[in-house]
Amino acid sequence: MAVPQRRISKTRKRMRRTHFKLNVEGLVTCPNCGEMIKSHHVCPKCGYYAGKAQVLDGKVVKPEVKKEPAKKTPAKKAPAKKTTKKAATEEAK
Ligand SMILES: [Zn+2]
Repeated sequence: MAVPQRRISKTRKRMRRTHFKLNVEGLVTCPNCGEMIKSHHVCPKCGYYAGKAQVLDGKVVKPEVKKEPAKKTPAKKAPAKKTTKKAATEEAK
């Protein structure tokens, strides 16, 4: 029967065991509510993701579609620039 050379005191044993703890992998705290959530997932508690409300009252919030202003064709712009000087001179006359 194996006999330990020296008995480990309660304190030494407890000091060693302070490092025995479980690590929870893949969980982060929600920046909005502070709940532990899966990373890269919408928070099930508050429905926030990437700083925006993605789910409100169980309904998915659709992302706002940005309406781009109608692009002015360069053909329209170019004569406008050319005529500005002429128009200015004609107005002066
Ligand atoms: Zn949250």
